Amino acid sequence: MSASNVPYKIYLSENEIPKAWYNLRADMKNKPAPLLNPGTGQPLTAEEMSGIFCEELVAQELDNDTAFIEIPEDIRNFYKMYRPSPLVRAYCLEEQLGTPAKIYYKFEGNNTSGSHKLNSAVAQAYYAKKQGLKGVTTETGAGQWGTALSMACSYFKLDCKVYMVKVSYEQKPFRREVMRTYGAQVTPSPSDTTQVGRKILAEHPGTTGSLGCAISEAVEVAVSNPGYRYVLGSVLNQVLLHQSIIGLETKTALDKYGIKPDMIIGCAGGGSNLGGLIAPFMGEKLRGEADYQIIAVEPASCPSFTRGVFAYDFCDTGMICPLAKMYTLGSGFIPSPNHAGGLRFHGMSTVLSQLYHDGLMEARAVEQTSVFEAAEQFARVEGILPAPESSHAIRVAIDEALKCKETGEEKTIVFGLTGTGYFDLYAYQQFNDGTMTDYIPTDEDLAKGIADLPKVPGLD
Ligand SMILES: *Cc1c(COP(=O)(O)O)cnc(C)c1O
Repeated sequence: MSASNVPYKIYLSENEIPKAWYNLRADMKNKPAPLLNPGTGQPLTAEEMSGIFCEELVAQELDNDTAFIEIPEDIRNFYKMYRPSPLVRAYCLEEQLGTPAKIYYKFEGNNTSGSHKLNSAVAQAYYAKKQGLKGVTTETGAGQWGTALSMACSYFKLDCKVYMVKVSYEQKPFRREVMRTYGAQVTPSPSDTTQVGRKILAEHPGTTGSLGCAISEAVEVAVSNPGYRYVLGSVLNQVLLHQSIIGLETKTALDKYGIKPDMIIGCAGGGSNLGGLIAPFMGEKLRGEADYQIIAVEPASCPSFTRGVFAYDFCDTGMICPLAKMYTLGSGFIPSPNHAGGLRFHGMSTVLSQLYHDGLMEARAVEQTSVFEAAEQFARVEGILPAPESSHAIRVAIDEALKCKETGEEKTIVFGLTGTGYFDLYAYQQFNDGTMTDYIPTDEDLAKGIADLPKVPGLD
């Protein structure tokens, strides 16, 4: 099909919202390693997990075999408020770059939370309500997940307690107000409301916090309050499952015009949007039906894939969470304070870690000033102010399109535009003022975190 027949935006109808999520694990020959109980070194059982997570979500977490899991009607109805999301042909960007490449992006910022996180928040809130719980606890870094969860909890009338990384709490007061408007209770982390928070404050006075530390606090509050469970916005298998809606819609839209991408690019923090975007494409790749080049993009200041190790590690700084086998910089790793672009988690989804380990996808690390240059370039021609996280994917999409300009190749590039940057204007301000700097951790910086990886009983 000639490209000129493709509209600027490929919209799907409401009926084309997927009726089932796709579970990529079903098609993986090498399954992601199980979560381990840090005390025993044994795989976590459903029973152990159900003290932390809702039952239905535990079942999804452990299910490596069911390829399609039906999306309950209540969740589909919520999805209809803001989905299907558009797949946009970036004609204006292509023209500006003068590239023969064809660039598409799947835009997930069309909802108040401003990101893809709502896709999983609504699912997790739904199952918590179905189980008859009072509420849920969580952490939030940049604030998108906390906002998404607040929205989902207010819809299903659940209590929502959010531990927000202190630096973001201070830099993004308006995010906090959105959460409070949806009824959530927001606490800056580390806080003195939990044991683990008090311990971290004593050991690191003046710390601006980290995601790993906020996770420890939220988990502690969930397990010590009856009727509460903990929910997480990324990393977990269940979250990648819910986010498969991004990839399924993308594939349906492309198929309508007979478009087969050569390359799929996404930013990677904990791996949920990328895992969701690539799901059906990776499925075809795993089944030997098609091939795609798949690229994860991460910040050079928090380079889990490109400079981490593939090992069992804690997901949190307080070391109370289960162990996950993943590419990690060590649970004690905290990105340099000058890092403004999100994607600050030290580890990575076990699913993506296994796929990367098996050579089924690639990873690139990019520096934040070049990320904001790409963001600015994109904003000026495509009319969307992108989230800094999303702009990591834009950076590599532009780089690849410029390579095509040199070689004359007409590659089709699809990338995930995960959200908008309206609450990231402090970072944009630094960029516009010319005060933004890059920091790439030295090998020595990284060696410390990696040396502290847990020794797992029975594994060494
Ligand atoms: C949270 C977030 C990400 C990174 O999380 P993943 O789980 O890796 O997808 C990327 N973009 C936006 C806009 C986010 O809010």
